[in-house]
Amino acid sequence: MDQTFSIIKPDATKRNITGSINKVIEESGLRIIAQKRIKLTTNQAEKFYSVHKERPFFRDLIEYMTSEPVIVQILSGDNCVERYRAIMGATNPENAENGTIRKLFALNVQENSVHGSDSTENAKIEIDFFF
Ligand code: GDP
Repeated sequence: MDQTFSIIKPDATKRNITGSINKVIEESGLRIIAQKRIKLTTNQAEKFYSVHKERPFFRDLIEYMTSEPVIVQILSGDNCVERYRAIMGATNPENAENGTIRKLFALNVQENSVHGSDSTENAKIEIDFFF
């Protein structure tokens, strides 16, 4: 079975809407097969987002990702990398399609409620990082 990696981000744990987000995930047919609530350290967040370290928003992103607990999850289902990216919606919620998690719940381009792996290779790397 295919797997992907998901994070419910600090803006969502802070607003107590993790159940609402996981309802969208489960109703799409994806299965949550592992789950834990953790508070990222600065070091973990910097490693996880190292691809963005030269971007102007990097420090803000690290501060945000370590500001409140997150929920890290493994999702399973056929083609789950693509399916989860589709139900997450665009990075900026202003561009996200109706019914997507980010359209429904995200606050702005940074506080956008969820992360999802963008390829099968990255899913494996990200799952191994946290589980
Ligand atoms: P994703 O794969 O859709 O999450 O998007 P990216 O990999 O491009 O960006 C990673 C995360 O960095 C996003 O989910 C946002 O939380 C944050 N981010 C991306 N672009 C911006 C931006 O232009 N400004 C700010 N402040 N944060 C951003």
